[in-house]
Amino acid sequence: MIGLGSIGKGTLPLIERHFNFDKSRFSVIDPVDTDAKLVTDRGYKFHKVALTPDNFKDILTPLVTEGEGQGFVVNLSVDTSSLDLMKLCRKLGVLYIDTVVEPWLGFYFDENAPAADRTNYALRETVRKEKKKKPGGTTAVSCCGANPGMVSWFVKKALVDVATETGIKFKEPADRKGWAKLMKKVGVKGIHIAERDTQRAKEPKPPNVFWNTWSVEGFLSEGFQPSELGWGTHEKWKPANAKSHKKGCNAAIYLEQPGANTRVRTWCPTPGAQFGFLVTHNEAISIADFFTLEDGKKVTYRPTCHYAYHPANDAVLSLHELFGAAGKVQDKLHVLEEDEIRDGIDELGVLLYGHKKNAYWYGSQLSVEETRKLAPYQNATGLQVTSAVIAGMVWALENPEAGIVETDEMDYRRCLEIQLPYLGPVKGYYTDWTPLEGRPGFFKEDLDKKDPWQFRNILVR
Ligand code: NAD
Repeated sequence: MIGLGSIGKGTLPLIERHFNFDKSRFSVIDPVDTDAKLVTDRGYKFHKVALTPDNFKDILTPLVTEGEGQGFVVNLSVDTSSLDLMKLCRKLGVLYIDTVVEPWLGFYFDENAPAADRTNYALRETVRKEKKKKPGGTTAVSCCGANPGMVSWFVKKALVDVATETGIKFKEPADRKGWAKLMKKVGVKGIHIAERDTQRAKEPKPPNVFWNTWSVEGFLSEGFQPSELGWGTHEKWKPANAKSHKKGCNAAIYLEQPGANTRVRTWCPTPGAQFGFLVTHNEAISIADFFTLEDGKKVTYRPTCHYAYHPANDAVLSLHELFGAAGKVQDKLHVLEEDEIRDGIDELGVLLYGHKKNAYWYGSQLSVEETRKLAPYQNATGLQVTSAVIAGMVWALENPEAGIVETDEMDYRRCLEIQLPYLGPVKGYYTDWTPLEGRPGFFKEDLDKKDPWQFRNILVR
């Protein structure tokens, strides 16, 4: 296991609970040893080292090839290249899983790189290119956390629900094209990965610290990347600073502004209408790409897809403080531990909109109280991620020669079957909310009143 941060610590006890493995060969790698005792007390090895482009092969190869059986690399770190790690693993016949396409240190804050090069689109393309170049072979699961990850399984489940409840005759699709055809038939215009984290700390946030419920570093990296979204075929308007890419799948565009300072209108069951941040995520691109239909080179259908994230209030406040201070990051970064949180839930789901029944949210409403009963060392946000990692690992063990896959390409039923016991209430809700609700208010607005589900109405301008 690479990385013993908030996600690594939560995944460790779940790996022990779900898998039989040779204890003497379990190793954890992290340059920070604050929590090393968690590993060594259990009789595993801890390696205090930062993986770099120069040392990763030498460090990993002996660890994953020693003795009999197949190795498994579970990458839950920041600042390590997912692509390089999965290439090495596949060469050695070792299974691999991660939760984001992570680059080596320096990528996110490279001031000389053009915006297009700092996108998740660019990162994802590197992995898709490798998949094309070397199809099949040892399984490497890319981006299998909560989101990216679990939400791709939710999209399929939600689509099947809406298709059934709107009376559409269909057989559950067996391939990508079949799924895309079904989504088109159901009339889905777009998908929000709509999240509301209501977990609140026992103490109020002091000034000059960044508080979050998962990696602050991870959130800042993606929050400073350009805002990005899968771009649907129903869209009639684009923001002036929207840019498309020259190469690759072309399923997404990016805005020349940071995602953590880009707001959209969205909906979750607990708050109802809310603002979310349009932070870039791999799933915004992979889902839009997966559900694309083409006629020759012409794209005939694609849903818009993006993240609409309302983080914990303390994180919203932290962002406000940071952007207000001319982008200067706080002196102290802190992930709220489970015992620092008073109460709250992480409501994380997918909002499929634009169809006959308007919009449908399907997702997990896991509370921190339930999380405490289910698994140690994590809050609700963490457990949604770590349980997806476990589901992905099971799938990889059951499908060891599937090549490089994203979660859209995995068996959503099997994965959810494994993960559901860890997700608290998992429910679907229809809503008649649209981004035109309550608008215009006192002031004139640039709206598309004919089609509520245009991005023009969703983006807060
Ligand atoms: P974290 O910051 O708490 O932990 C990351 C760990 O990586 C730290 O312990 C750090 O010391 C270690 N690390 C840093 N540089 C390293 C290097 N060169 N080699 C090895 N280890 C190194 O982050 P987290 O909250 O545990 O998140 C871990 C990863 O999971 C991040 O990439 C994050 O973006 C991702 N994540 C994905 C999802 C999802 O739903 N898909 C959700 C949360 C986090």
